[in-house]
Amino acid sequence: MAAAGGELAYDAAHAAPVIAGAARDGGAAEAEPAMPAGGAGCHAGAAELARAARAAGGSELLDRLAADYPRGPHDQPQSMCPAFGSLRVGLRMRRVATVLSGSACCVYGLTFVSHFYGARRSVGYVPFNSETLVTGKLFEDIREAVHLLADPDRYDAIVVTNLCVPTASGVPLKLLPAAINGVRIVGIDVPGFGVPTHAEAKDVLAGAMLAYARAEAEAGPVAAPAGGRGERPTLALLGEMFPADPVMIGAMLAPMGLAAGPVVPAREWRELYAALDGIGVAAIHPFYSAALREFAAAGRPAVGSAPVGHDGTAAWLSAVGDTFGIAAARVAAAQNAFLPAIRAALSAAPVKGTITLSGYEGSELLVARLLVECGAKVAYVGTACGRTEASRADREWLEARGVTVRYRASLEDDCAAVEAVRPDLAIGTTPVVQKAKERGIPALYFTNLISARPLMGPAGAGSLQEVVNAAIGNGGRMERMRAFFEGVGAGETAGVWEGQPNLQPQFRALHLKKLEKRRRAEQAEEMI
Ligand code: SF4
Repeated sequence: MAAAGGELAYDAAHAAPVIAGAARDGGAAEAEPAMPAGGAGCHAGAAELARAARAAGGSELLDRLAADYPRGPHDQPQSMCPAFGSLRVGLRMRRVATVLSGSACCVYGLTFVSHFYGARRSVGYVPFNSETLVTGKLFEDIREAVHLLADPDRYDAIVVTNLCVPTASGVPLKLLPAAINGVRIVGIDVPGFGVPTHAEAKDVLAGAMLAYARAEAEAGPVAAPAGGRGERPTLALLGEMFPADPVMIGAMLAPMGLAAGPVVPAREWRELYAALDGIGVAAIHPFYSAALREFAAAGRPAVGSAPVGHDGTAAWLSAVGDTFGIAAARVAAAQNAFLPAIRAALSAAPVKGTITLSGYEGSELLVARLLVECGAKVAYVGTACGRTEASRADREWLEARGVTVRYRASLEDDCAAVEAVRPDLAIGTTPVVQKAKERGIPALYFTNLISARPLMGPAGAGSLQEVVNAAIGNGGRMERMRAFFEGVGAGETAGVWEGQPNLQPQFRALHLKKLEKRRRAEQAEEMI
């Protein structure tokens, strides 16, 4: 180690001459690429990436995303990379290949998470470097990749996704062939600076697939559902649900002479035709703006909310009856068949306690409704998704009962609600749950423990009550654990220590002195 100009140096790197460079022959300034050649990621700032995307001709795309996924009060709630939503939708479909185009670090993270959630499927990747990105060769590489992959014996469709950097650079996926050897090619842009949450990214792909399927259906005959067409008209269901929920919804629709249609996002391409072939669509999850646009274009009306709880089910069945012109007697038959059982389930194990609830799945308002009907006092609902028409009925119902509903809620909003309300149970995302547990408040993960259970009908009420009552009942244990671990893992006791921490307080004192000295020097400069 040697002193170099007053600084400690570990090698001779500081002595290397700096190449100043010279003007190129001709001196003509090269056109500045819309995107820095090395690309940029989440860290570059959404504004900079959006600027680059617009410069690269992506204004129409960004304007449409802004209209579909309204912002405010926060532009981008803290959650995982949005592209995970669309990636997961593609990976869950039979005979569909997925190809990502983006920075290697993004693709690493996305494939890691998708395999963590049991994708059991390869994720295609077309890498790029500064040269292929700037020269347009990346698009040629993507085209070559889909040509190599387009095997009709293996695939119905290939989904190619532009992540942040290729979107900001304007890699033109719309120029890909619509089909190769009969394999459909669906290109989508899912930039983190345009799609706020991974939930809404599911809609980007669902909407693109529905648009493709609708064009096919309009052009000529398409494949019938695998199990054939039923006799009753169907209502397609929008939103990923617990598998028992569509079955329960189908049972509720039966007295009205209707059946539950396919769930979108679909598991198979031909289900998209069947979804569009119904009489309408139930927007169980309210953020599917692009998908709803396709249903509307196909002349299929939408019904918002969902059959959760007693009042929710009664209102939803009425709305279905009104929208599709079902005779009042049939609507009443459906209500009479299910409402008494739901009421009985609700009163069997009422929830007593105050709850705050937050999540990024898009079903938060429905869960809050059900909790209120279960007897809970829900003080706050935060959802990372935006405010949409399809969630209006749920929002109004909740607000009429004194519940604060926050769209595009940030982590800070959710944590502040826990701090202010001090609930008997906090349902939320991982950091919210952590915050609550640190304070000895029982907490449940929304995604793993609430989203992954039925919500509809009598089974939904019973299932939610069971897990919520068990968690609230743990309050005493949480308090004992908090007292036992008091001070552990905080401040200087964080981490693993073999012995007593060597605190070295003189270092901090020295740093404080230096900072103070610098502050005084800056003040003195300002005065000059
Ligand atoms: S693709 Fe996802 S991980 Fe990559 S920069 Fe964009 S938001 Fe971040």
